[in-house]
Amino acid sequence: MYDLVIKNGVIVTEGFRFEGDLAVEGETVAAIGKDLRGKREISAEGQYVLPGGIDIHTHMALPVGGTCSSDDFFTGTAAAACGGITTIVDFTAGSPETTLANDLETRLETASPAVIDYSFHCEIVGWNEKRPEEMAAVLGKGLGTFKFFTAYGDSGRRTRNGALLEAFREISSLRGKALVHAEDDDIIHRLLEELPEDGISDMRNLAFTRPDECEALAVSTVSWMARRTGARVHVVHLSSGLGLEEVLLQRRLGTPLSCETCPQYLLLTEEVYGRPEGHLFSASPSLKKEADNRRLWRGLAEREINFVATDHCPFTREQKTWKGSFTALPYGLPGVEMLMALLFSEGVKAGILSLEDFVRVTASAPARFMGWYPRKGTLLPGSDADIVLLDPGIDWAISAQDLHMAVDFSPYEGMRVTGKTTCTISRGQIIAQDGEILGSQGRGRFVGFSSK
Ligand SMILES: [Zn+2]
Repeated sequence: MYDLVIKNGVIVTEGFRFEGDLAVEGETVAAIGKDLRGKREISAEGQYVLPGGIDIHTHMALPVGGTCSSDDFFTGTAAAACGGITTIVDFTAGSPETTLANDLETRLETASPAVIDYSFHCEIVGWNEKRPEEMAAVLGKGLGTFKFFTAYGDSGRRTRNGALLEAFREISSLRGKALVHAEDDDIIHRLLEELPEDGISDMRNLAFTRPDECEALAVSTVSWMARRTGARVHVVHLSSGLGLEEVLLQRRLGTPLSCETCPQYLLLTEEVYGRPEGHLFSASPSLKKEADNRRLWRGLAEREINFVATDHCPFTREQKTWKGSFTALPYGLPGVEMLMALLFSEGVKAGILSLEDFVRVTASAPARFMGWYPRKGTLLPGSDADIVLLDPGIDWAISAQDLHMAVDFSPYEGMRVTGKTTCTISRGQIIAQDGEILGSQGRGRFVGFSSK
């Protein structure tokens, strides 16, 4: 008799599909089979039983430009759980004044109310001669993925090429990974200068000043350094077809390069900036064109893009109050609760992704990236019992009102989608059911990077 048995579902991993029961013992998957018996049983009749989603790019409680992203680690991970995410990877908040170990300590404290498991990428802002030693030290504490910005020179977050090359050498020798926000700062600045005087008061110019060329050039630059140093480099939130073509070109040259995209770059276009509330869509990279959406979907289906993450970074309407300039807005969109539904509806239901592809891009590939597979990202006996029940028949309309993220608008307001998470299980415990949060604050655990 197992602790919990999920009965009569269609169990899907990236490698197999099986109609039957899945048994959980304690915190792990114990068996897959027919007619399994449990102390507690839940029916998954007509539903898919999938590995819990892993969103490898979120920003909970992110301090930025005098404000803070509106989800903290409790509200954000509770919302994530409702949407079928069982693990997130957030970021430490780096600064030139603090050590990486300080940053980790502070962030562990901030993240302690998390409902689901979590990890961090180590953000590096301000390169100096102590950083190599600090990187080795945090590697011992479970941080092995180091985040850099090629843009945001104005706010001091940019790492220039000389420092980046040095950092990549360290990462290569530590067998870590570099994550790069790839947008060329010089192109952005040049285009900002080109705008007429009142240009910054037109939201549509956000897209004009951050074209696909600025993404592709930055991908090219960091790729050269990756090849030179042997560092594994990951491009976060890839937004354009041109950026993806550059990734593919660089791979053909032997560059150890991976990339992710986000639902907003698959589903939204820069047209939204022309709407009356276009400023609510402020994000960087900026949204691109329909042809980019299509190219990125194809890249996902054809395994050119490794996985999908959300870059969840919510700000409320009030925080995004229009002050007459697109450069004065906080940048970021809410997304963590919508990842599974959007990918299922617009990917699987639309016939672009198979169910196995869906599992790969939402769970298995991000788990492998963090060195967690097969503990997470699949449903093999011995894997963490991080499980999602998804009902493929539920047709519903997205509305911020019904969602759990601490934000009062949705970029997808009114959009109809098919398929919904009905039950989320984290390490054997039911933490969300039909939109109700059951997991307690603080039950989430830190999971360290493993260099494989
Ligand atoms: Zn981000």
